[in-house]
Amino acid sequence: MRYLKLAELYRDSSATTKRLEKIEILSKFLISLSQKDRDVMYLLLGDIYPEYDERRIGISNQIAIKAISKATGIEIKEVNKKWKSIGDIGLVAENLTKNKKQITLATNILTIEKVLENLRKLPKLEGKGTVGKKLSLITELLTSATPLEALYLVRTLIGDLRIGIKESTIKHSLAKAFFKKDENAAIKIQEAIDKSNDIAAVFDIAKKKKIKDFEKIHLQVGKPIKAMLAQKVKTFEEGFKALGKPCAIEYKYDGFRMIIHKNNEDVTLFTRSLENVTKQFPEVVEYIKKYVKGKSFILDSEAVGFNKKTKKYTAFQDISQRIRRKYNIKDLQDKLPVEVNVFDILYYEGKSMLNETFKERTKIVKKIIKKHPYKIIYSKQIITGDEKKAREFYKQALKDNQEGIMMKNLDAIYQPGRRVGHMMKIKPEVKDLDLVIVGGEYGTGKRSGWISSYNLACVNKKGEYLEIGKMGTGMKEKADQGMTFEQLTEEVKPYIIKEKGKKVFIKPKIVISVTYQEIQKSPNYPSGFALRFPRFISLRPDRRAEEITTVEEIADDFDHQKRNWKYG
Ligand code: ATP
Repeated sequence: MRYLKLAELYRDSSATTKRLEKIEILSKFLISLSQKDRDVMYLLLGDIYPEYDERRIGISNQIAIKAISKATGIEIKEVNKKWKSIGDIGLVAENLTKNKKQITLATNILTIEKVLENLRKLPKLEGKGTVGKKLSLITELLTSATPLEALYLVRTLIGDLRIGIKESTIKHSLAKAFFKKDENAAIKIQEAIDKSNDIAAVFDIAKKKKIKDFEKIHLQVGKPIKAMLAQKVKTFEEGFKALGKPCAIEYKYDGFRMIIHKNNEDVTLFTRSLENVTKQFPEVVEYIKKYVKGKSFILDSEAVGFNKKTKKYTAFQDISQRIRRKYNIKDLQDKLPVEVNVFDILYYEGKSMLNETFKERTKIVKKIIKKHPYKIIYSKQIITGDEKKAREFYKQALKDNQEGIMMKNLDAIYQPGRRVGHMMKIKPEVKDLDLVIVGGEYGTGKRSGWISSYNLACVNKKGEYLEIGKMGTGMKEKADQGMTFEQLTEEVKPYIIKEKGKKVFIKPKIVISVTYQEIQKSPNYPSGFALRFPRFISLRPDRRAEEITTVEEIADDFDHQKRNWKYG
């Protein structure tokens, strides 16, 4: 298949902002997509492999610019100049390829196979001479590209497709293309995506038009799976009303989600964003082997930090650095130990547990785990329908430095990737927000060279990122005091899409926790709200941008804040 066909789809999809039109365009494309071109499904989401696979393209703006220069024969200085004036590297590539094409005609036709072949070599490259090798792989593609192909090749390379196609667009387009828009098919497709995290595998089944075949997608030990998420309630009364009485109430531990896979002697640990963190937590691998019975299983848990001396639980930000640390792991392990709090099981001895009730699943968790406080335990739990008991348990959880409590329906199944109505959380009102960095501004004086102010955004239901404020505090100037301006600048640098004077525009990738003094209504920000004095707390490397605080949650917090003033 010609890459041009895909580039035209990208163009047509980005030409409309209407969801239904996008679905119409994409479903037509999917009908014409043959089985052998199934991997195009990954390219639709800007990837080259399934979501569960960690290999990503990861090309910086600077390499893309060098490649454009090589492919078009125009000096880097000139390409950079064009970038500054147009502000979008993809458009620069399109523009310069157009000029070149007037002189020389492309000799090769770019195929999907060739694009994937070269792109898939990129993540493998390591060590000496890497940049040169990357450059020649990319230049080879750009040299054969038409202007439209160049535009989307470059956008794919830098990870910024901007065509408005998301997983949910694909879900509805598959349902429309192969199941006459059947709502039930859309649900089955979503379940298959959540279980497999492989959009091409789901396409394979959809193409055969047999709804029942979606059930053939099973969990696989060792392949990451999306966690089930909770909804929020404000009172126990509300919680019991939603879940029925009695229900299970557990501590809501303040750490990070860890999904643990074991297959014979192989233990693999994943975060909620499907990142493999096995190497970073060797002690957890040991606990699993020593203290959990069973040959194969998938456990759902929260890893929580604690102070070695006082044995008190610590907040998430203290252990966040362990998630991405690739060196001196032993030192950090000694300094920042974690305890694993297991609260669910998804798979056990060759069988999926997803359709078992929570009560049954908890029984197995308790049966197979040999509790070792400060190493591995199962979550503290009571089963009650009594509000007073529930409130006492909540108070105790807060006293133990935890975030709040979870309420769970005893008869509910496990639904990967869903924010379900049968698991509720209750936590105190003033809380940190998880926001994504979408822009910033370089500082002056001793802060020049660093981005000293960061534009933050929340997300809405459509998956759009809406700005809510600028953060300039919480970062430090010296490394021993915490996250520095320099470090945070380095974090966001690979995602800079555009620069204009001191201003930078950043792709929504880096998620951070932020506190604030107050939420105010504001016409100046697209979210309709502004944070007063937002302050950096920590990076959230375990969170994906799609999972940050929503504008609805902020509106809710805003209402509550008002009410609290009135009565407080
Ligand atoms: P929050 O910021 O409130 O943690 P979230 O979006 O990260 O929200 P939710 O699913 O809404 O996640 O809230 C539950 C989270 O709490 C889980 O993702 C998990 O990381 C954590 N957690 C801690 N203890 C438990 C528990 N006993 N059962 C389920 N989840 C728990």
